[in-house]
Amino acid sequence: MAEQRLLEVTDLRVYYKSILGDYKSVDGVSLYVNRGEIFGIAGESGCGKSTLVDGILRLIRPPGYIKSGKVWFEGQDLLTLDEKRLNKIRWNRISYIPQGSMNSLNPVLTIEEQATDALIEHSNISKNEAKAIIEEKLNVVGLPKEVLRTYPHELSGGMKQRVIIAIAIALNPSLVVADEPITALDVVVQKSLLRLLKGLRDNYGVTLIFVSHDMSAHAQLVDRLSIMYAGKIVEVGSTEDIFYDPQHPYTKLLISSIPRLEKKEIRGIPGIAPSPLNWPKGCRFHTRCPLAMEICGVKEPEMLQMDGNRLVACHLYGNGGERH
Ligand code: SF4
Repeated sequence: MAEQRLLEVTDLRVYYKSILGDYKSVDGVSLYVNRGEIFGIAGESGCGKSTLVDGILRLIRPPGYIKSGKVWFEGQDLLTLDEKRLNKIRWNRISYIPQGSMNSLNPVLTIEEQATDALIEHSNISKNEAKAIIEEKLNVVGLPKEVLRTYPHELSGGMKQRVIIAIAIALNPSLVVADEPITALDVVVQKSLLRLLKGLRDNYGVTLIFVSHDMSAHAQLVDRLSIMYAGKIVEVGSTEDIFYDPQHPYTKLLISSIPRLEKKEIRGIPGIAPSPLNWPKGCRFHTRCPLAMEICGVKEPEMLQMDGNRLVACHLYGNGGERH
């Protein structure tokens, strides 16, 4: 079956104004997501992952602004839509699970009250219809309908996150964007949530963008993985290729820093991430890269198409993906 693109982002730039100048948090990102795919976005804290998805969904608030770019979703550019049309797409066609969202449940309302309110606000359905939908989606995420009568404090972290996922899929969106959905949960709960997210794609055809700093979570869940560094994507490929044959020096260091039982020593990535206020000239990773060459501090590497679907931005690779 031919792959069908659901989302295509071209040269997206999201900046934050400050008295010192613009913080270029996302600085020229292009990517695509196919229908039915789980697409991962990985990278250290501060690399621009969350700003990227906020930019895609046009959720940037001042002093942030979208400097330029295009975000094609189901045949329209989200960046040029008026607020009314954009609001129709949010929730109905694209839903978003923001970072820390399980803590945003209202403590003084039952799950039923807040879930049905959210649904009614974003669709033309009655309270009874909203309740029936939420009951069905709670079942999908593995929770009994009795959860509707509870308050958030009566639920564990994992249950709250399942409620959030049930609300996110309630209106059958074609794309769900989840930003760090398993962070701050214990590993057993993380594993069960990853299984749940995979099941949503496998059993219900949900397309998912999964944002996480946790490389082992990506290894368990995503089909295609992009690696972000300093506001840009530096490598994209199938998850298997990225983990078994990483090409970009930053990707290699990220993977080698994953804790494993058999490893005696875990090595982090040397140096500190640069500031979005003043990205280094040339390759933005050259100040930390163990393989940096003279050209790396002068010329920014372009994204190169390697074999298959692999893309890499690094001067180590030249025409046709050959090493220099
Ligand atoms: Fe390292 Fe140079 Fe490649 Fe950048 S372009 S990752 S500095 S080798």
